[in-house]
Amino acid sequence: MLKKIICVIFLWMSISSVFSQDIIDSNQNDLSEFSDGPYILIEKNKLIEKSIINGEVITKILTANVFDTIFPPGKAVFNNVKKIAVISDVHGQYDLAVEILRNNKIIDKNLNWNFGKGHLVIVGDVFDRGDKVNEMLWLIYKLESQAKDKGGQVHFLLGNHEYMIFQKDLRYVSAKYESTSKLLSLDYNELYSNKTVIGRWLRSKPTIIKINDDVFVHGGVSKEFISRSDFNIKRINNLMRKSIDQSKSEMKSTDFYDIYYGSKSLIWYRGYFKGNLEDKDVSEILNRISSKHEVIGHCSNEEVVSLYNNKIFGVDSSIKNGKYGEILLIKKDRYFRGTLNGKRIKFK
Ligand code: ZN
Repeated sequence: MLKKIICVIFLWMSISSVFSQDIIDSNQNDLSEFSDGPYILIEKNKLIEKSIINGEVITKILTANVFDTIFPPGKAVFNNVKKIAVISDVHGQYDLAVEILRNNKIIDKNLNWNFGKGHLVIVGDVFDRGDKVNEMLWLIYKLESQAKDKGGQVHFLLGNHEYMIFQKDLRYVSAKYESTSKLLSLDYNELYSNKTVIGRWLRSKPTIIKINDDVFVHGGVSKEFISRSDFNIKRINNLMRKSIDQSKSEMKSTDFYDIYYGSKSLIWYRGYFKGNLEDKDVSEILNRISSKHEVIGHCSNEEVVSLYNNKIFGVDSSIKNGKYGEILLIKKDRYFRGTLNGKRIKFK
């Protein structure tokens, strides 16, 4: 039942998103052809589905069991995974992300899971900039349950832009969503609050995970972070989850904000690209976190890149520009770029 509903929602979204794009381009103020959604709000004993179709808000009342509303946090350490695909910094560029995933056979032509027992890691920053954030979130939501059925897994790691939305920093939200907010009378962050299905689902997600010998995290692990926290993946994820609905001033009352949200934090760090690290510094960090590689996003490059003799892989391949992008593919201890056309290029 649940799967059927997700499929219907999904089909509807694919159609409606075609229209929404046209509108934005033609006339910012005319909402008569504006479509977006669905957004599922949680109320006591029922769910309210809100969708916008041609400028009109369609409200449906669903029984409480149509969608899960409790999402227990999953594991964050995995072993013996045979194949891994990694994508990052989609930033609302749903169409391009779909093309990359499809051409690399992670999903099939109907956007269903096609990666068997493989793990797909999304290294943060699905939110902001582009105008198909909601479509991307529902796609990940669907793939997560399809992957599980096939013995695979989808890991959605939270990046700095997810945390920005949680904390109502709306500077980078696409102009499209002003119309959604206006029509639904909800601020953008409220569309993903703790009182929505997707908001609750997001709140169960990790910030950092380890698969086999590799750590995956949006910004990266800095020397400073290690020196100021005892590096424990489970503990870090719990702390980050707890902080989601805390106010900035509450977090700033201790050194928590500086360590976990500052420029050297896991979600904001850019030192592997812009710092003055040497090979031995990176080896030291990897030693300290008992890993062989780190796979990170956050800093945009033209393609998936390898740094420090294949110790660090940068997966943000500028999908945010909506023109080109790649994924990283890992099979045993071999690492490949998966290009937009689905070509595999091995890192030497
Ligand atoms: Zn980022």
